[in-house]
Amino acid sequence: MHSRLGNRAVLDLSIRPQGPLLVRAGHTASEDSIPIEHNVQTPHGASPSVPYIPGSSLKGVMRSHFERVARSCGLAVCDPFSASSCARRALAKRSEQISDAKLYSEVLCAACKVFGCEAAAGRVSASDAMPSETNPPKRQLRATLPVDRFLGSGRSATVRDFEPVVGGEFKTRIVLENFELWQLAMIGIVLMDMDDGRVQIGGFRSKGYGLVSVGLDRCEFFFAKPNLPTNGVYGIGSLVSDHQRREFGYMSDDWLLLRLPQMSEHSPEGNHRPSVQYDVIADLFGLKYVLSSHDAIKSLLSMLTKNLLDYVSHHRPGERASDETQGSS
Ligand SMILES: [Zn+2]
Repeated sequence: MHSRLGNRAVLDLSIRPQGPLLVRAGHTASEDSIPIEHNVQTPHGASPSVPYIPGSSLKGVMRSHFERVARSCGLAVCDPFSASSCARRALAKRSEQISDAKLYSEVLCAACKVFGCEAAAGRVSASDAMPSETNPPKRQLRATLPVDRFLGSGRSATVRDFEPVVGGEFKTRIVLENFELWQLAMIGIVLMDMDDGRVQIGGFRSKGYGLVSVGLDRCEFFFAKPNLPTNGVYGIGSLVSDHQRREFGYMSDDWLLLRLPQMSEHSPEGNHRPSVQYDVIADLFGLKYVLSSHDAIKSLLSMLTKNLLDYVSHHRPGERASDETQGSS
């Protein structure tokens, strides 16, 4: 998309199961041949196998909810499996030598812009969520009798054993690069909805599995432009040339100046730690700062709702057609 890095947000999260959580491996063995179904596992540190949440699963769950929120805002979102998906349309356009900018601005839907599709890279990535060193989730054996949906009776005499994880926390990292502010706002909404129990992770969701709370532990921003005001958040639209901004269809006011109380505070020794630490690397490279409290990060993300609403009001399909009737005869 862009050959150089314009901005980056690195969000460190704690995902805390609020009940049983079971992310299943994509094995192909028949269900009844698996004696115990574990949460998917991987070697980690000195341990040969620990339960974890693959980054791809996390990204998938985030994308589904992102699509739901986008639709409820009135934004167009494609069905990746349909013939009119962004990927299909993009691949058709590739043969017409369409530029990356035109692909982004004219073909990709809101979800494909952020999460990517087969034809274009996205702007967000999620690392595998690994158990916390100090407070890892615990495995817990449970038994379930598979129920025949039509007869309502036990399908077989075999009681199946499950080993979901409960309690503790997983640590993960979400990275956005060259992002527009509305995209960061949407990721914030998805994470807060996950925290509110509106997004579940893994299997058995109808049984209440997969509810989590989300802790926003740390957020590091980097904006690659010299002499930026240090109390701002800058989307890619405010960091590229006017020509590029128009080509990619970025919003012209893709930035936001903040009023966070602790922002420039250097608390004396003994006082509480400031929740925002500034580290202006060098004017030559740009601005970098870190927010290190859940509330400060949540507050910043919610302030970006303004940028999301601006984007939505410019990108709702059929906005120009409104309800004027076009005479067809
Ligand atoms: Zn799409």
